[in-house]
Amino acid sequence: VSVMVGVDIGGTKVALGLVGEDGSLHGDAREDVTLTGGDAVFVEGLIGSVRRAVAESREEVLGIGLGCAGTIDSARGTVIESPNLPVRDLPLATLVRDAIGLPVVLDNDANAAVWAEVQAGAARGLRHVVMLTLGTGVGGGLVLDGRLFRGAAGGAGELGHMVVMAGGEVCACGRRGCLEAYASGTALQRTAERIADAVGRGLVEEGKGTDYGRGLLRLHRQDRLSGESVGALALEGDAAAGNAVFEVSRWLGVGLANLANVFNPEMIVVGGGLSRLGDLLLEPAREILRRTALHPSGDAQVAIAELRNAAGVVGAGLVAWEEHRSVARVGRP
Ligand SMILES: [Zn+2]
Repeated sequence: VSVMVGVDIGGTKVALGLVGEDGSLHGDAREDVTLTGGDAVFVEGLIGSVRRAVAESREEVLGIGLGCAGTIDSARGTVIESPNLPVRDLPLATLVRDAIGLPVVLDNDANAAVWAEVQAGAARGLRHVVMLTLGTGVGGGLVLDGRLFRGAAGGAGELGHMVVMAGGEVCACGRRGCLEAYASGTALQRTAERIADAVGRGLVEEGKGTDYGRGLLRLHRQDRLSGESVGALALEGDAAAGNAVFEVSRWLGVGLANLANVFNPEMIVVGGGLSRLGDLLLEPAREILRRTALHPSGDAQVAIAELRNAAGVVGAGLVAWEEHRSVARVGRP
């Protein structure tokens, strides 16, 4: 059996694992290297981790896939900039390849995630797939006509910064009205804060019942209101938390309809922390998609991502596998 080393370069740590061509993990993925210090320290630590993984592998290692958040020029193997790393224009793929002596592919973590869903997850076997990752922010990835779509310089797929409300809420990117400002964990928290604030001032709509919003208000006063805590409350059946999720879900639906009209995908996969809300999050969004997207694009399936544990590691490994196959197809230069 042959494997790729899949490496997920996260916000605070690096996770590695051995990934088979079918997306299976050989042994456990493990975490290594704390991302502190300058880029030279980080690169040295990363190379050390990869070298250990290769040395300890009982399978033949064919190559290495690196997945990293940020703007990545995959063709040149360069991290242009990353929220996770204090680097700019770092030729990471070349540095790792020269140190280890195996082919290295570097890609954006969102690209790795959508590729993993197409190869081994919810979108297995499909050729036209859009993925949204709803966490603190909103990430995106595109598989068009069976291939990852990266754009001219690696900047494609920033689906979270599609404007859904001109002049709307301020986004983490500094612009206004992005999908991320309406359909992220941060947006869910903001929506819940607004409801809790209204409840605290006695501004509850008639017919909502005396308990309405009390749970959110309690969390708010304990300073524990977050996308995660609001989601958990909604899953327990709390009506006000459910309304906050509903509002976020409707904005998600606006995003889905736009994406469906642009790409006419077979499936839109929703991953990230908010996707734990399942149909509570997806159902209202699906309804907006069906009602507002053009025919037949509105028929796109909307599914929750399947790869959970070590999705970043598996995705990075599968991107390396795809590169390996495409080099085999066209022959080495
Ligand atoms: Zn934005």
